[in-house]
Amino acid sequence: MSTVQTASILISDPDSSIRQEQGEILRADGWMVAETGGGEELFEAALERPALLLMAAELLGGDPEARLGELRERAGEGLRVVLTFDADLELDWEACSRAGVDEFVERHAPAWILRHRIRRLMPVEASAAEQAGSWMEPDVFAAKLRARLGTAAGDESQVAVLAAVLDIHGMDLGQLSSSAGKSLTQELGRRMRAAFEDGEDGGTLSGLLQGMRLARIEPGVVMMMIPGVRRVQDTARIGARLQERMAQPLEVDGKTRDPLVGLGVAAFPEDGQDASILMQNALTAARRARNEGTSLMIFHTEAMGRWAFERLTLERSLREAIVREELRVYYQPRVDAETRRILGMECLVRWQHPELGLVPPVQFIPLAEETGLIVPIGEWVLREACRQNQEWREKGLPEIAVSVNLSPVQFRVGDLVEVVNDALRESGLDQGGLELEVTESMLMNDPKKTVEILERLKGAGIHISIDDFGTGYSSLSYLKRFPIDALKIDRSFVMNVTTDPDDAAIATAIILMGHSLKLSVVAEGVETESQLEFLRVLQCNEIQGYLFSPPVPADRAEELLRAQKAGVQAA
Ligand code: C2E
Ligand code: MG
Ligand code: MG
Repeated sequence: MSTVQTASILISDPDSSIRQEQGEILRADGWMVAETGGGEELFEAALERPALLLMAAELLGGDPEARLGELRERAGEGLRVVLTFDADLELDWEACSRAGVDEFVERHAPAWILRHRIRRLMPVEASAAEQAGSWMEPDVFAAKLRARLGTAAGDESQVAVLAAVLDIHGMDLGQLSSSAGKSLTQELGRRMRAAFEDGEDGGTLSGLLQGMRLARIEPGVVMMMIPGVRRVQDTARIGARLQERMAQPLEVDGKTRDPLVGLGVAAFPEDGQDASILMQNALTAARRARNEGTSLMIFHTEAMGRWAFERLTLERSLREAIVREELRVYYQPRVDAETRRILGMECLVRWQHPELGLVPPVQFIPLAEETGLIVPIGEWVLREACRQNQEWREKGLPEIAVSVNLSPVQFRVGDLVEVVNDALRESGLDQGGLELEVTESMLMNDPKKTVEILERLKGAGIHISIDDFGTGYSSLSYLKRFPIDALKIDRSFVMNVTTDPDDAAIATAIILMGHSLKLSVVAEGVETESQLEFLRVLQCNEIQGYLFSPPVPADRAEELLRAQKAGVQAA
């Protein structure tokens, strides 16, 4: 196996067997290969900025120059093009070369010919220069940035420009020997790439690495562009990691030094509509940061900086919350609508913050999901819930099930089934003592993978309910595909069930539909006797809400179970 060349080749051909054949040849040669048919799909794939396009000539249409121009706008001016053609195709060769086609190769040419042509166009050195993260000269960088702003304006993403100004004890880095200068920039490039890597966030940042480009502006001053940014905090997070890494001791001219790094951030469109203005603004912010005398990151726009800073601070303290054991599980009983006996307890996480007090989940779950912290948090809740329920059982309290909310991220990262099984095994709780709640939108997003995981959980004997039901768009036939046991009617419908005829109709429909699918139906957020009465008449199976009890700490939940055992009605 040859070493992997990271520059990418995009194969575009309407015939998938041809694409596959060519892909195999090139992958075996170590290239990173993507494949597409034609049309919109091709334009989209071009945005990934392949270094070379291997394309069926018939896809060029009547005006090769226009078509290739459009593709270069997306893929960048450096795009090399190799056309494949069938022997009988009548092709306007001249128009094609005018359009900048670099090579032609017959579609069914033997493997060695294809290989040879591609290698000639992309010698290993040249391909390395196209790699994400290799250095560009400032004007090439500016041109690439300009091209990228056009597409960003179209798809409403941001392009962030980060400038880093390095200060190594006031050394004039321009005076370094060329080999010392080279190894310094190599090291900086390595650190800049590493800022995108992190196992914990489920790869949310590593997706941005591919579009990343680096420029050496002058000795000790480097710039990075990150296209495709959807959220300011992604830039902020990369910046924070970059800063941490850049400030690590550096080997310069044989001596280890502690550098000072000023980081400046400017983002399109907020901080400038034009490549040179963005670069200037990032650089100004970086110089300002360097002049502060400690390693610092400054955003060109103050408002953005403040916002990003708050998010980063919160992210950091949430990370610590897990270690410092500041998370708590609260329990809210779910009761039988007829008998009002407690059948289960929903586990709802809280953050006991040293200064902010008890923080509700809506204030940190979204951040935890974005940063991937939901994975360790969710795992902790699962284990704590199982441990607690087993403790109650061992105390001889009424047997109930605890139900734990799952986040979509937990389906994507790590092995959820394994985590669940571990929690059960560790606590000694049997499967019937644990239930899981997923939301409708989770089923819609990646149905195939979700079904597979849910089926394994279900196979392990765990009940699954759909939370916040009614807020998504699932239809009856859609629901049938999922191995679920219960529907939880969203609180927003229950709230007005006795006053708003529309909500009453929706709640009624959900109960009937649930029963026809042999599912148990739970109403969330029941606050009044009249709501309970309405639901009871419709034979809604279970209710949960302030009417019976709000979410309470474990000791209080235990009292509720004790009262039930003693036969005292707690209603
Ligand atoms: P959810 O799973 O739908 O939980 C029900 C929410 O409704 C809880 O809010 C509960 O306190 C609230 N609630 C229950 N009965 C009533 C009522 O009668 N009236 C009113 N006004 N509210 C009621 P909470 O605890 O703030 O949790 C909010 C959401 O945070 C949960 O919605 C759930 O989606 C999420 N969440 C909580 N804990 C976890 C967790 O451990 N993991 C994950 N992934 N999400 C969690
Ligand atoms: Mg829930
Ligand atoms: Mg809910």
